[in-house]
Formats: sequence, C-alpha cells, structure tokens
Amino acid sequence: MTIFAKIIAGEIPCHKIYEDDHVLAFLDISPIARGHTLVVPKEPAPTLDKLSDEASAAIGRVLPRISRAVLAATGATQFNVLQNNGPLAHQAVFHVHFHIIPKLDSASGLGVEWPSGRLDDGPALAKAIASKL
Ligand code: 5GP
Repeated sequence: MTIFAKIIAGEIPCHKIYEDDHVLAFLDISPIARGHTLVVPKEPAPTLDKLSDEASAAIGRVLPRISRAVLAATGATQFNVLQNNGPLAHQAVFHVHFHIIPKLDSASGLGVEWPSGRLDDGPALAKAIASKL
C-alpha cells in the first residue's frame, strides 16, 4: 500500500483541499513552492498509463478548478502541472498524482531542463503511436 493509498483511506493525515468520489487533493508535504498541491485519483493505479478512463475523466474535471483555487490563494498567476511516471521520470510515490506547482518567479518553483532534439521520423512515428491507440 502506498503512502497516498493510506492518505486516501484516512490512515495518514493530510492538509485536504478537495475530495469527491474519485479524487483527493491535498498539500504536498515537501512543497517546492507555496501552495504546491497534489491531485490524486482514488483508484490505485501506479502510473498514468494504467489509469481507467473513468478515473482519468474525474481528474480532468477538477484539475483546472483546483489550479484556479491554488492561484487565487497564493497570488500566483503562473504554474506548472507535473505528472511523473516511473523512477527514471522522478516518480517516488507509485500511485498516480498530478502536482500543481505555482511559479512565482524564475528562481523558485519547478525548474525544467528541455533538451530539444530534431524530429526526423515524424510521419512514421505518429503512425506507429496512433496504431497503438
Ligand atoms: P513524485 O516524485 O512521486 O512525483 O512526487 C511525490 C510527492 O509526494 C513529493 O513531492 C513528496 O513531497 C510528496 N509526498 C510524499 N509523501 C507524502 C506524504 O506523506 N504526504 C504528503 N502530503 N505528500 C507526500
């Protein structure tokens, strides 16, 4: 059982922001910006690709609303939504979660490295991915 499953079950406390039948949102315990919030589906999928359509829709329905509330409460006007899948991708808790991270200035909040490359095989790659849907 992950730490987030325990929080959802009420076995571990959290600073709750929002709850419905499918979603729980609460403050991150080690925030990288004030207002850093986690939005978590109650379904215990380890990574996003394993999440059901129903749980995904429930997250999608509330993510913008919770983001607006985080902005309004912190005074931020810009923010990142981060969603990590797998240890190489910096996931530490293996229960799907979306980070809402206010970006107040260039020195604080989430730093992103973006090593842009070249798209050489666009048509074939798009076709290969589309064929797997
Ligand atoms: P990940 O790297 O998996 O995307 O992020 C996991 C996040 O969960 C981290 O930002 C970490 O601070 C947060 N976290 C880990 N344990 C707890 C906890 O017990 N309570 C809360 N509120 N956040 C946690």
